[in-house]
Amino acid sequence: MPWKGISDPYKIWVSEIILQQTKVEQGEKYYLAFVKKYPSVADLANANQEELYTLWQGLGYYNRCKNMILAAKEIMHAHGGKFPKTHAEILSLKGIGDYTAAAISSFAFHLPYAVVDGNVVRVLSRVFAIKESFHTAKGKMAFQLLAQSLLSKKEPSAYNQAIMDLGALICKPKNPNCLECPFQRICKAYLSDEINIYPTKKIKLVIKERFLHFFLFEDKHHFYITKRTGNDIWRNLFTFFSVESDNAENVDCPTEIKIIHSVEPQMISQLLTHQKITGIFHHCKTNPQIVATLNLMQIKKNALSQFAFPRLLISFLEKNNYL
Ligand code: SF4
Repeated sequence: MPWKGISDPYKIWVSEIILQQTKVEQGEKYYLAFVKKYPSVADLANANQEELYTLWQGLGYYNRCKNMILAAKEIMHAHGGKFPKTHAEILSLKGIGDYTAAAISSFAFHLPYAVVDGNVVRVLSRVFAIKESFHTAKGKMAFQLLAQSLLSKKEPSAYNQAIMDLGALICKPKNPNCLECPFQRICKAYLSDEINIYPTKKIKLVIKERFLHFFLFEDKHHFYITKRTGNDIWRNLFTFFSVESDNAENVDCPTEIKIIHSVEPQMISQLLTHQKITGIFHHCKTNPQIVATLNLMQIKKNALSQFAFPRLLISFLEKNNYL
């Protein structure tokens, strides 16, 4: 790896950002091309975004490039073109998180900050039999504190490199080479023959799919809306009259509505944390009788912006030039 052993903070930064979502073998050629075209922070700060995107092609997550240019500009303006030397300043740069800040701080400046990446989490979870997942706030904190407590304050960069290498080369995700591992005698996972249960995997979220049919009652000057109450999404926000169904095509709604909705419905989806909501919007001619039965609020069309609607409904209203 061409970046191994280097102490130039700029090059460490470039390599770490490239490797965030990329395998080492694939990242190497990008790294070499990157530092050839932009050998210093100043070159990157003056980079043409389109040219950088072209060089980055294939790596994806283009936000990384954008953030790097912004951070490089900040280094030029706020730090006189010199890469900042404190952990806090490094961490404050755009696109630099805990891991990258610890890597630059320790490898470039020998500051005592422990890196915690996937390799480190795997080693620590096995040696100490930690069942907490790194993907929870509590777990992340626990791993950070443990790693920091183990760090050699005299040789933080050697320590960080060693534990990362151990994770990458010996304590591999599958078939770790325990017989050659220096921690074999104290590794709780090895001693209890439970290596495969560590580290605890990220819990996959089960996304529930829901279909909400919205009936937009409208006359020349008014819309008819309702406030959501109860223990469900969008509590206290305003929506149109709605009926939930288990699909987008059919809905079991009051008979009167069935008769009056005529226009082709529009569909818009939104992903919430645990739910995918698909809104099917039906335009309805106003029928005073139904409006009264459904207990809807009559509001002036130009007053629409005074009511708080969920994002999904705002998308619909904007799409139809109501907002
Ligand atoms: S003994 Fe095996 S499981 Fe434990 S740290 Fe070493 S390689 Fe990993």
